[in-house]
Amino acid sequence: MRVGVGYDSHRFEEGRRLILGGVHIPEHTGLTGHSDGDAVAHALIDALLGAVGAGDVGSYFPPSDHSWKDADSMDLLARAVNILESRNYQVVNVDVTVICESPKLAPHVEAMRRRLGDVLRVGAGAVSVKGKTNEGMGWIGRGEGIAVHAVALVEAIGGFDATWGATDEGLPL
Ligand code: MG
Repeated sequence: MRVGVGYDSHRFEEGRRLILGGVHIPEHTGLTGHSDGDAVAHALIDALLGAVGAGDVGSYFPPSDHSWKDADSMDLLARAVNILESRNYQVVNVDVTVICESPKLAPHVEAMRRRLGDVLRVGAGAVSVKGKTNEGMGWIGRGEGIAVHAVALVEAIGGFDATWGATDEGLPL
């Protein structure tokens, strides 16, 4: 088994749709971003790629590449799962903390868990999403944006760890 951690932050921007964990949250303005700005998806992508030492979201889906303009971040997350599987790993479980003063996450958590569970191919039971405020402190407290922390546990498919015994030079990732 291996573990990865991811973080992302985005600024709120008028006129954008708020998408978090693949779920549209209509009661609040959206987030800036080259893609749809789904910071939950982006933090999870970094956690998955980090778990197998495969770089980060920017190395696969750079903002300089117009293919990813307004991209559906659930599609990017699905691609990250494919990268994971191409390295012989699958997701065990993920845990996500979303930090913002508003909107309230609770009414959307179950929909996010189901959507993420589908894309990660684990089911909602292996996906945790938690909302917190920043107690009014700093840029999050002023409602300027959102921050997301994610952790992902992955396991070798079929119990075979492709990295076992590999040297730094020969890491087959
Ligand atoms: Mg991002």
